[in-house]
Amino acid sequence: MRGKFEDLYHLCKACRSRQGLSKINLDDSSICYICTGLMDNINLIPHEIQSKLKDDYEFNTFLIGTSLAAQFIEREDEIRAILKIRGMISIKQHITSALRKKFRTLTRANEKFEKPDILITVNIFPDCSYNITTKTRSIIAFGRYTKNQRGLYQRSPKSQEITKLNTNSPIHLSIEDIISSKVLAATMGDNVRFNWIGSEDKDSLVLGSGRPFFLEIQDPRKRRFPNNSLIIEEGKISARLAILETGYLTSGTRTRTITKIMIRCTKPLSAEDLKKLDSLTSTIVKFKSKFALIEKKIYSVLVDKIDLSLFYLTINADSGLPIKQFVGGKEYANPNISMLLSSQCDCLSFDILDVIIQ
Ligand SMILES: [Zn+2]
Repeated sequence: MRGKFEDLYHLCKACRSRQGLSKINLDDSSICYICTGLMDNINLIPHEIQSKLKDDYEFNTFLIGTSLAAQFIEREDEIRAILKIRGMISIKQHITSALRKKFRTLTRANEKFEKPDILITVNIFPDCSYNITTKTRSIIAFGRYTKNQRGLYQRSPKSQEITKLNTNSPIHLSIEDIISSKVLAATMGDNVRFNWIGSEDKDSLVLGSGRPFFLEIQDPRKRRFPNNSLIIEEGKISARLAILETGYLTSGTRTRTITKIMIRCTKPLSAEDLKKLDSLTSTIVKFKSKFALIEKKIYSVLVDKIDLSLFYLTINADSGLPIKQFVGGKEYANPNISMLLSSQCDCLSFDILDVIIQ
């Protein structure tokens, strides 16, 4: 059987040894029936991966996966059926482990099966040609920004996701755009996703230590900012960000926001009205969001009269209180300023004086 087999099928050294056959090669000029020469050149692939990554990618851990054309596996199965071989590693496993081993030696990076810094996939086609794709693990940044001039949107009005395509746009429409483009430039990432703590109007100022936010940076090539922080000073905003080593902080992050609201009433304010406003301290405001009934506590209030029917209300409250709803009372919010003063009140503007993380 073996003799006849050797006449019919030529296998290369690597493919013979995988079947548990002796490594003696009878005829070096023939093409291997299983791998058609692939195994002879397998060690070139890790070099190519390395040159593809150049010096752009920062990673300490990696994983290489292989997608191998079915023809290779079918031919090996055919040989194993003839020789009645079972329980040996497959050509796919052989290739994958050879690629990983060589890449480890070349880069001195560690192999990691769960959440590696970079996942490399080698797709091998029936004619032994291949391509290499990479995907890096997202990194999470925490930052704060202040806005010292009015007239800038917090969020990108059209799209929640800013891709590389529009980072070259000369017009920055929003704080989101400005921060996105700087972060993507610094990390050579593909995309960012914001997780804001609270929100403000286009014409609100954001003062104090600034509004906090979290940022997921997807498919980054650089995993750190130079000197561990990124400082953005651009026109109306300044921001500072740092990479978080341990994922999101959001679960359990409690924040309070100090907001200064300019309110106009349809009637002059009486001394009684001022007392009512003072009584908002320690009140819980309930309001309806899209999905639930939400409660936000007010910790302190300060009233500054500007004229008879115009005043500033500065409140220290749980972050996320919808200010216009709280003042206007047109949508459900209980209590609200209009209801409290029995007069239609309008929020003319509001500024964020500070956001305090508890
Ligand atoms: Zn072979």
